[in-house]
Amino acid sequence: MARVVLRGVTKKFGEVVAVRDFNLEIEDREFVVFVGPSGCGKSTTLRMVAGLEEVTSGEIYIGDRLVNDVPPKDRDIAMVFQNYALYPHMNVYENMAFGLKLRKFPRHEIDRRVREAAAILGLENLLGRKPRELSGGQRQRVALGRAIVRNPKVFLMDEPLSNLDAKLRVQMRTELAKLHQRLQTTTIYVTHDQVEAMTMGDRIVVMKDGVIQQVAPPQELYDRPANVFVAGFIGSPAMNFLRGRIVVEGDRTVFDGGALRIHLNGALRQPAAAYAGKPVILGIRPEDIEADPAFVETHPGTRVESVVEVVEPLGSEVYLYLRAGEHNLTARVDPGLRVQDGDRLTIALNTDKVHLFDPETERAIR
Ligand code: ATP
Repeated sequence: MARVVLRGVTKKFGEVVAVRDFNLEIEDREFVVFVGPSGCGKSTTLRMVAGLEEVTSGEIYIGDRLVNDVPPKDRDIAMVFQNYALYPHMNVYENMAFGLKLRKFPRHEIDRRVREAAAILGLENLLGRKPRELSGGQRQRVALGRAIVRNPKVFLMDEPLSNLDAKLRVQMRTELAKLHQRLQTTTIYVTHDQVEAMTMGDRIVVMKDGVIQQVAPPQELYDRPANVFVAGFIGSPAMNFLRGRIVVEGDRTVFDGGALRIHLNGALRQPAAAYAGKPVILGIRPEDIEADPAFVETHPGTRVESVVEVVEPLGSEVYLYLRAGEHNLTARVDPGLRVQDGDRLTIALNTDKVHLFDPETERAIR
């Protein structure tokens, strides 16, 4: 069993609280991603699991063993960093074998493990090369190989792909996912890239200012963000946020945003009604703004008159930057829609996909 459990883990550097009361149970075989902006405490949390940083308070368990006082080398973990720091004078084989040699593994066992890892990573033909004779992607694979040969209980990865160019990063992302399917080793993966988090994680831990904002599988994070921060952080282009207030008119619950008035139906109606007369923030993702005339026609209650400020064609889709009174909106629409800068455009919001947030707490209203 290689569960990893963090209980009330806090880390202070002097006055700075880098991580605050972090609670998480990572299941055996799970691939969990820590994501958040620079300085949110994700690396510090990973380094505490690794034993490279002492916890100020709280407990960390790896495979049911309390490891607070266990040195890194005895924690049965393997780390992969962004600067993979291969030994330049050693060839690929020696780089992968090095950690096992230090641990005094018998030579035949080292050989078996290195060749097995090389086969998994497609490095069989490169074993004699020095790091400088490898591409960035190949070097990163060697760094992974070094972790794999250890056969650890847990992989800890800190932005392992961030030194690679965009194309290679996408490719390595898939390779890492396949590797995890094959080895099933419990993995904690740190990144600031929400796309990486969404595509790789079984579950994602979103952090901000040292505090967990939400823990959820990718789709749930996208569909049901717990607060404004998560809603704005996950998804590209980002969710639109509109300030307004809730008005209840007879049996109608309306979001009144000045230039736009949206009738709220479905699941949101009841919770929204509790905010009658109060300010709220309405969130709508760019793809949930509809410009298709047939949709707009049939959804009079969520229609918005807008002016197209910028059209950004991306081939498979088009981003429209719209202005509706005092509000700016980004919409993601079908490239078949013929519009130009300066055009007037009537859009409609898909109210099933509308989010509401309390402006004071910034929490989702449900
Ligand atoms: P990044 O993506 O930039 O690496 P991060 O989310 O991994 O950011 P951390 O490196 O964990 O963030 O840092 C969290 C906070 O702790 C930051 O405010 C950082 O300045 C502070 N911090 C980290 N390490 C130390 C240290 N050794 N001494 C003092 N403060 C530190």
